[in-house]
Amino acid sequence: MRFEAIAVENIPLIKKEDDIPALICKNIELRDRDIVVIASTIVAKAEGLSFRLEDLTPGAKALEIAARNRKDPRFVEAVLSRSSELLVEAPFMLAVTKKGHTCINAGIDDSNIEGEFLLNTPMDPDMSAAKIGERLEALSGKKLSVIVTDTNGRAFKIGQTGVAIGIYKIHPLKHWIGEKDLFGKILEITQEAVADELAGAANLLMGEAAGGIPIVLIRGLDYYADEGAEIKEMYRTEGEDVIKKGLRCLLKEKI
Ligand code: GDP
Ligand code: MN
Ligand code: MN
Repeated sequence: MRFEAIAVENIPLIKKEDDIPALICKNIELRDRDIVVIASTIVAKAEGLSFRLEDLTPGAKALEIAARNRKDPRFVEAVLSRSSELLVEAPFMLAVTKKGHTCINAGIDDSNIEGEFLLNTPMDPDMSAAKIGERLEALSGKKLSVIVTDTNGRAFKIGQTGVAIGIYKIHPLKHWIGEKDLFGKILEITQEAVADELAGAANLLMGEAAGGIPIVLIRGLDYYADEGAEIKEMYRTEGEDVIKKGLRCLLKEKI
């Protein structure tokens, strides 16, 4: 058994309205069931999501949080504007984005973008993945899946990893429930986070710095799903999410 991760070479610095699918097709021949993994940084650049702090005016809530976490109040304002909720306000901001992804600073970042600019993550990453996927399918005539990724930390471990934030034609979870283990025992709870695993594998080639590899193909694994799939299949429902409930309790005490 084997699969391949293939860096798509020769991708330029991405600017607003660049045609990412056309750039992919120009530089690599796609095959049926390829999984096209794309760093959210370039999706955001193509969507024109860069901004400057000097253009923002912090509101009262941003000023109050900034006084505690010692960040630029305009940066706090930017994070608040992209979040439905902050689960931690200080010493760092753990945000839930409007589409339900939980990450530091709502994914806002100033790395791999020029000068004074910062970059928001795509507002609706599933929609971004679908737009890219549909155009890639039209250009190539192949059946493809797309994963839009970002680099996130984890709650209980040091070290960041690639994670899926938007998907197209791939289910983010593989259900093993009901399958038998080596000894015939029926698995009761296992769901494998394949979209995150694939994002992590692709991230090995992307790296985090000046590598200039924002797109990686995963070839040789069969996760293609023709029917609609959404990243929120991965997000725990409010009732089930014990960690979020706990963080809300801590936040009330302003820890
Ligand atoms: P994120 O994980 O989506 O936040 O993206 P990163 O900033 O970690 O970048 C992932 C990879 O994409 C790295 O190899 C970067 O050098 C590369 N990258 C970022 N922006 C661009 C770009 O505009 N053009 C190219 N060719 N590579 C980029
Ligand atoms: Mn990022
Ligand atoms: Mn990254």
